[in-house]
Amino acid sequence: MSEQWIYLDGKFVTKKDAVVSVYDHGFLYGDGVFEGIRVYSGNVFRLQEHIDRLYDSAKSIMLSIPQTKEEMTEIIVETLRKNEYKDAYIRVVVSRGVGNLGLDPFTCKNPQVIVIAEQLALYPKEMYESGIDIVSVASRRNRSDVLSPKVKSLNYLNNILVKIEANLAGVGEALMLNDQGYVAEGSADNIFIVKGNVIKTPPGYVGALEGITRNAIIDIAKEKGFDIREEVFTRHDVYTADEVFLTGTAVEVIAVVKVDGRTIGEGTPGPYTKELLEDFRKAVTSDGVKVYPNEKIQAV
Ligand code: PMP
Repeated sequence: MSEQWIYLDGKFVTKKDAVVSVYDHGFLYGDGVFEGIRVYSGNVFRLQEHIDRLYDSAKSIMLSIPQTKEEMTEIIVETLRKNEYKDAYIRVVVSRGVGNLGLDPFTCKNPQVIVIAEQLALYPKEMYESGIDIVSVASRRNRSDVLSPKVKSLNYLNNILVKIEANLAGVGEALMLNDQGYVAEGSADNIFIVKGNVIKTPPGYVGALEGITRNAIIDIAKEKGFDIREEVFTRHDVYTADEVFLTGTAVEVIAVVKVDGRTIGEGTPGPYTKELLEDFRKAVTSDGVKVYPNEKIQAV
């Protein structure tokens, strides 16, 4: 297998050499921001939106990314070219950088920028055909007025606790509520429900990350003339929905067929979920930034 190149601190290094200091505040305190991005057949899906979210997250925590957005775009594209990847998962991390053991972020003078591209382990096809079971968990989403869910920070303990609970319950994903008991999202995905011909997803202020996949699904649904709304809802609405699905960069669009033991709809992926997944998979090869501009891009 050929060498995997990782962008670290201004240069490309091998996986073995891609190491950071134990004094990096990203390591010591989860002080930093990140993005998870996908490239499909040489098209970096909605790259601009990911970059905008990264810079907004950084601004919110007063982390000044040394590169301009254009330079960051170039670094991401270069990482893919260097590895000759057309289909990959990309992780962009910007940590506060090396400081001392104190909390003060202003001791960290050089934010650390890391770009990892990896060929992905795709979720099994059967999962999309059969749908997945989820459970609601006791851990609640961080209050959005304490740590905004819009900040995609390196502090994922909240989500990790949720994932642990889901795993202990024998399922892979969870339904996370906010502090008031309203449905927020999954451990690393947004949630949608369908009832009749109305599709709903919680608004950002409930405590959900503004997912890029979520926004793409909203755009696709609107283009198709579907009635899609950002609205607050409860677990009862999830239990009694005709369809439930999760969205995220890694999972794309996946049907949920059981929640806390309640079968959703017919217990199989519903028509809206299937249609939106199909349309999403068409969009991913065109909506974004081309890594190999002169090459004929093949559909996935
Ligand atoms: N919520 C959380 C907490 C996440 O970590 C993610 C993954 N980035 C999502 C939702 C889905 O967002 P996206 O579609 O941008 O991957």
